[in-house]
Amino acid sequence: MSVMSDKRDYYEVLGVNKGATDKELKKAFRSLARKYHPDKNSDPGADDKFKEIQEAFAILSDSEKRAQYDRFGHSGPQMGGGFSGFDIRYEDLFGSGLDDLFSNLFGGGGGRRSRTRQSRGQSILVRKKIPFQMAFEGGSEEVSVDTFLSCDSCSGSGGATSDDVEICSTCRGQGQVTQTRQVGPFVQQTSGICPTCQGRGKIIINPCKDCRGEGRKKKKQTIRFNVPEGVDTGMRLRMRGKGHVPPQGGIAGDLEIELILENHPWFERDGAELLMSLPVGFPDLMLGRTVTIPHLDDKPLVIKIPANSLAGHTLNIPGRGLPNGRGRRGDVIILLKLHTPKKPSRNLKSQLESLKSDLSIADDDLENSILDEAKDRRS
Ligand SMILES: [Zn+2]
Ligand SMILES: [Zn+2]
Repeated sequence: MSVMSDKRDYYEVLGVNKGATDKELKKAFRSLARKYHPDKNSDPGADDKFKEIQEAFAILSDSEKRAQYDRFGHSGPQMGGGFSGFDIRYEDLFGSGLDDLFSNLFGGGGGRRSRTRQSRGQSILVRKKIPFQMAFEGGSEEVSVDTFLSCDSCSGSGGATSDDVEICSTCRGQGQVTQTRQVGPFVQQTSGICPTCQGRGKIIINPCKDCRGEGRKKKKQTIRFNVPEGVDTGMRLRMRGKGHVPPQGGIAGDLEIELILENHPWFERDGAELLMSLPVGFPDLMLGRTVTIPHLDDKPLVIKIPANSLAGHTLNIPGRGLPNGRGRRGDVIILLKLHTPKKPSRNLKSQLESLKSDLSIADDDLENSILDEAKDRRS
């Protein structure tokens, strides 16, 4: 079963119905984001909740991704697949000077930006499936991401030449303006984003042809990263400065990689322990048997089933599981399951018939056997 199916429905996360308009989505996101922002909400679950809200909004506010989600749910190609970048334009959502918290956090177009504080680009979140083997020994992987990088032609300034960028005269490069208004007997001062330069503090007279004045261009980048051993689904790796460069220069955002560990063909994972079930025939349980199967450490896993073993019991092979983070490895735990032939031949049936008195429990002993079994279980 896919891990992603544990995720909550995006509409449910935002508390809107399936037909919600863009306006309704934004409204729901704004109020939830304010409520659960980790700087405002110290509940232990707030951080995760906040991430969940961001993700739901990123998908549903993108008409293409939303359509895909409506069709395929969380298992859609954009969702569970290799990567999907989440771009949330906080400046569009929260507008100018609305909320210091958000403008500070996301470095968007908040009203408090000044020339002395560089703007910060958006961060990117991608998902990456990694083979189960990586939990065993770590490794290195790569993702390709479409990232806004500084434009080579104008070095990110956005101007065709360095003379084509001027400091905004309306705000003197501050990016914001203070307006004084007389309201009856009061003088009201409001400060907001500069209408001339949209808060950038500079004006481009003749834009760079290559990036049309944006100062950045989208390029596909391949980024290699190391995966630590013991990794599990949901682990996030943050790479500083590998996200988008903001328009007309500034500090690049981060790249966050969320890892999804693929299933192993037969092992289940419980912390550092690896669990599997091994089907064995009745003669193997009675007489004992040694079974050899390949293992994650490239050395064969030798499973010795002792004589008189019981189906439903487990065997432990210590130290061959996953790293436990304290320099040791967990165990491999093998559950013995009784295998019976699906279609026993007539010959087998008649042979079993003759063995019945030796192998089965006679009717008049059955009650005692049940009692013994119960005693064993309770001891
Ligand atoms: Zn350029
Ligand atoms: Zn200005």
